[in-house]
Amino acid sequence: MQFENSKTFAQAMDQKDPLQNFRSQFYIPKNKDGDDLVYLTGNSLGLQPKSTFDFINQELLDWEKYGVEGHFHAKNPWMPYHEFLTKSMAEVVGAKPIEVVVMNTLSVNLHLMMVSFYRPTKERYKILIESDAFPSDKYAVQSQIKFHGFDPKDGLIELHPREGEVLLRHEDILQTIEDQGDEIALVMIGNTNYYTGQAFDMKSITTAAHARGAKVGFDCAHGAGNIALNLHDSGCDFAVWCSYKYLNSGPGSLGGVFVHERHAHDTSLPRFEGWWGHNKETRFGMRDGFEPIPGVEAWQLSNPPILSMAAIMSSLKIFAEAKIENLRTKSVLLTGYMEFLVNEIGNESIKIITPSNPNQRGCQLSIQMNNADKSLFEWLMEKGVVADWREPDVIRVAAAPMYNSFTDVYRFVELLKEGLQEQ
Ligand SMILES: *Cc1c(COP(=O)(O)O)cnc(C)c1O
Repeated sequence: MQFENSKTFAQAMDQKDPLQNFRSQFYIPKNKDGDDLVYLTGNSLGLQPKSTFDFINQELLDWEKYGVEGHFHAKNPWMPYHEFLTKSMAEVVGAKPIEVVVMNTLSVNLHLMMVSFYRPTKERYKILIESDAFPSDKYAVQSQIKFHGFDPKDGLIELHPREGEVLLRHEDILQTIEDQGDEIALVMIGNTNYYTGQAFDMKSITTAAHARGAKVGFDCAHGAGNIALNLHDSGCDFAVWCSYKYLNSGPGSLGGVFVHERHAHDTSLPRFEGWWGHNKETRFGMRDGFEPIPGVEAWQLSNPPILSMAAIMSSLKIFAEAKIENLRTKSVLLTGYMEFLVNEIGNESIKIITPSNPNQRGCQLSIQMNNADKSLFEWLMEKGVVADWREPDVIRVAAAPMYNSFTDVYRFVELLKEGLQEQ
């Protein structure tokens, strides 16, 4: 695709965009004059679908009307409510329904997964992670290492970029697994990285780690709803993600969990258990020993918050219409266009650190500021761009293909250019 640096080109791209109508299904935050802000933080909190109000209201009305009987008689009965989300969530992440459940929140789920898939021994107790992993993920893995009586200083292997580089090289990840595989119990990597926007090839990492006897999990907080994850084909043991970033399900909404089908009937796996993971036929008998539901549903502990699930249902309905493949096709163009325009500015004080290869990134671009100067970011925010700043020196911008337009991207880069001239 030959991009052009002009507003008319951006508008023409919007007119040709088969997903253009989805934007109108979302509330776009506005400035005080009522104009749309350039919202580029769907990687942090996705925008509200207009339909979400009605989905939540439906549950409030059914609670009003039925009380406890809403578990069976609500329009969407609460007892099996999570099951209504499974199929479309599984499609978004490229998994089979038996491999996906919506429950809890991401950090909680990461711990629950490590209870089952981080089983350290004296010889094999290490966890491999990226050095710039999201802080919560680091706290989670370090505390698991300590919980099992090991020292994170020795038990955590951090993957660092090479001297003078900001991105991890894929071959270095594979080499570390090859070299230290005997001691690694779990490979737990963020896909896509929240800071650099770099996406890793999950399948080759999984294949390498499994060949050396390690288990593999991915944090897909920045991948779900952003790239085509193909979790099942990747072969990884587990994955966790949240639904409030690209999945537009509201602040603090519930997360998703993937456990590969090969573990679906494995009763030898240790697991923290609760009544919602127990055989649905006898769950209310409250007498029997624990009988796990086959598949990832066995990891459920509690009956879930329906109001939050209603927001997820509303959003997943839109994803089912748009389809992740189509979103991804648009996303490659949208982010490619942003990259093209930023490079056209040709200013030495900014640099895109996200990989240029679309297969190694999602929609986010991380723009590094010379001298960690935050003033340009602050100027952009004043001018109506919603982006975010990540210490020490990066402005993150994500053009979400669901609701961002080529015109948004054009407006952003025009402001960026103007801001650089003002500095
Ligand atoms: C957003 C994010 C989280 C947030 O975790 P919560 O438990 O949902 O608060 C964790 N890890 C990564 C990589 C994230 O991007």
